Amino acid sequence: MPKIPAWLADTMERFLGDKIFPVDVVQTRMLNDHLKSVTFKGDFSEANFVPGNEVLFRINRNEYRHYTLTEFDAERQTCKIVFYLNGKGPGNQWVLNLKRGDQLKLLVDQAKVQYKTDANQHFFFGDETSIGLYDWFGRIALNNDQEYFGILELKEENFSVLDEVKLRIDAVISDLTAPARNAIQWMENMHPKCWEMWEGATFYLTGRAKSIQSFKKYLRERGVSPKQIQSMPYWEYGRAGG
Ligand SMILES: Cc1cc2nc3c(=O)[nH]c(=O)nc-3n(C[C@H](O)[C@H](O)[C@H](O)COP(=O)(O)OP(=O)(O)OC[C@H]3O[C@@H](n4cnc5c(N)ncnc54)[C@H](O)[C@@H]3O)c2cc1C
Repeated sequence: MPKIPAWLADTMERFLGDKIFPVDVVQTRMLNDHLKSVTFKGDFSEANFVPGNEVLFRINRNEYRHYTLTEFDAERQTCKIVFYLNGKGPGNQWVLNLKRGDQLKLLVDQAKVQYKTDANQHFFFGDETSIGLYDWFGRIALNNDQEYFGILELKEENFSVLDEVKLRIDAVISDLTAPARNAIQWMENMHPKCWEMWEGATFYLTGRAKSIQSFKKYLRERGVSPKQIQSMPYWEYGRAGG
């Protein structure tokens, strides 16, 4: 989201009253040096959260950043987000500083990528910023007795986080200059039976914009229909404001 003047942000928030929820940070946990899981508590009875729900936080006077829920517990009235510490933007600094006891406002947005309950196979593609979303989708798949697969482009130091969150998908090293190339190579190495199995699968693509673009093009070339693909770019190198 681009920068906006503070007065406009303040006015907007007054109009968005029913979408804004005061929250307390009740837990923070470092999954490793670069991924931080944060649990928020609030009165979410009117929030109507669905899996994949996107939310916004005002990270300073002029800027908001989007993040995605990884969990909603209606009984405890808590929700959780997995934040990637990219080491660059003001959002990163804001996440680094988040600590138990902080009081914030959470703005509820849409769920542009939604779990397709009637598909039996679910395929996840993304990066560090997608881990929260796919952790939730993976748990739904297991509960529904459905299957999930996937490939994430990650920095090597983050591979172990998939075990930490018990997300049973693979990872390849991300490459700044060749978006999605290693993931596409991984797909090419798959047994033809896998492609047969994925004929009715839903493919979810999130994370780096250029990786999504390349991976989508590849899927289309392999005969995956547009109806089977849901995608949402989260960020791109050199572009501020996710
Ligand atoms: C709908 C939506 C849902 C999202 N959900 C999540 C989520 O659940 N968890 C999460 O961690 N992020 C999520 N993101 C991504 C996050 O909003 C962006 O990464 C955002 O740019 C971070 O803000 P920042 O202030 O740290 O960096 P910015 O000020 O936006 O950017 C500063 C610099 O950092 C670079 N940069 C930004 N993100 C990355 C990255 N991941 N890797 C390398 N360089 C980067 C930018 O290209 C830019 O050059 C989501 C984004 C969207 C649009």
